[in-house]
Amino acid sequence: MDIREIKAIDSHLHFEHFPKYDNEMQVSDQETIWKVARAANVDKLFISVLEAVENTEVVESENDYLWNLSQELDYLYQWVVIDPRNENTFLQAKRMLGNGKCVGIKLHPKGHNYTLAEFGDKIFSFASDFGAIVQIHPEDSATWILPYADKYPDVTFIVAHMCSWLGRAYADAIEQAKHGNVWTDTSGMASFYNQGIEYVVNRVGADKILYGSDGYAAGFQRGRIEYAQISDEDKAKILRYNAEKLFAKTLGK
Ligand SMILES: [Zn+2]
Repeated sequence: MDIREIKAIDSHLHFEHFPKYDNEMQVSDQETIWKVARAANVDKLFISVLEAVENTEVVESENDYLWNLSQELDYLYQWVVIDPRNENTFLQAKRMLGNGKCVGIKLHPKGHNYTLAEFGDKIFSFASDFGAIVQIHPEDSATWILPYADKYPDVTFIVAHMCSWLGRAYADAIEQAKHGNVWTDTSGMASFYNQGIEYVVNRVGADKILYGSDGYAAGFQRGRIEYAQISDEDKAKILRYNAEKLFAKTLGK
C-alpha cells in the first residue's frame, strides 16, 4: 500500500466566508482551502465556517449558507453549529441532521463563551435524540468529556485537537469511555509533537482517530501522519477509513 495514494478525508476544518485578506500569508477563503486540500490529495472536507464558531451573531446565517453550498460542491460536507442560547440553531440542526450533507454538530464553547457545565445536558440530550456525531473544541483536558459521554451513549463525541492540553488525556478519554463513544482528530499543532500520534495509537489503537487540519496547511498535517512511527494500516485508517466508517450514512448518499 502506498499511503500517498490514499485520498484523505479532512474531518475538521474551517474557511472564512468573509475573508479580510489583512495578512496575505493566512488566506483561508473557501477556494484557497480547497486548493491546499487538493494538493494534499484530500477529496472531502467537513467544514464549519470560521465566523460561525467565533461570533454568535452569525451562527444561523452561516449554517444556512453552508447547507446551500454543500448542495453545490461535491467535496464539501457540513457541521451544523449550535449555540445553546439560540433556539433557532437547534431548529436548524433538527432540519439538517441526517439530511443532505450534514455530518453532525459542531460545538465551540470557548469561541461562543459558554461552558458544558451550564449547557452540556441541554445540548447532548438533543444530540442523543438524533444519534448525532458531535465535534467539540475542548474546554479542558480531554477526560472532561467523560461524564457526558457516559451519560449519553447514543452520541459520538469527537474531542478535537489531539494531544492538546494534557496530551495523554486523549488516550485516557478514549480508553475510559464506558460506551466507546469518544473519538479524536489530529487537527491543531499539538499532534506535531514528536511522539504525540504514536503515544495515542500505542495506548488505544488508531480506530478512533480522524484526520483533520483545522484549515492549516493540510499537507503539513498529512505528512505528520504519513511519517508517523505507526503501521501503514493505522495511517490509512486515520487518513480515510475511520471517517468512511463513522460517517457511512452521510457519505453513502
Ligand atoms: Zn476547529
